[in-house]
Amino acid sequence: MIEAKIQSTHIMITDSVANIFMTSRQFHKDDNERGGIVLGQINESNNKILVCRATIPSNVDSQGKSFFRRNHLAAQYVIEYEFFNSDRKNTYLGEWHTHPTKTAFPSQQDISMIRQQFAENNVKVKFIFLFIVAHDELYVGMYNGNEINSIKMPLPLVK
Ligand SMILES: [Zn+2]
Repeated sequence: MIEAKIQSTHIMITDSVANIFMTSRQFHKDDNERGGIVLGQINESNNKILVCRATIPSNVDSQGKSFFRRNHLAAQYVIEYEFFNSDRKNTYLGEWHTHPTKTAFPSQQDISMIRQQFAENNVKVKFIFLFIVAHDELYVGMYNGNEINSIKMPLPLVK
């Protein structure tokens, strides 16, 4: 388990999610950008977020060297499947994708995307996460409808 803190929110990332991030890194110039959605559990009473699922690209998603567009219906299917197969505990937390750079920082497009996801989300949430996986860093951004608070963690997360 990897732990991080953004303001007063504790974020716990399971090793299986960390492994998906690490093995998806875009090291070669021919690699496509990879990404998906992130799911987990929010415990509002103690401000803890468990990030326990990350989807990997499927053949209905569109990928290029500098873009990743996930298929909305496929994501919706995963969200519902996870919800009902986790005793209604796992919910949509946000988005992740790779960048072919050493350090991780969101592009202007990433920021508009996360704002749009927040606005269009069916379920009213207090925040939405954006994970960016670069070569040496993981960026974790938490958008609350107003601003993005973020942290960066060195990779690899799991030795
Ligand atoms: Zn990006």
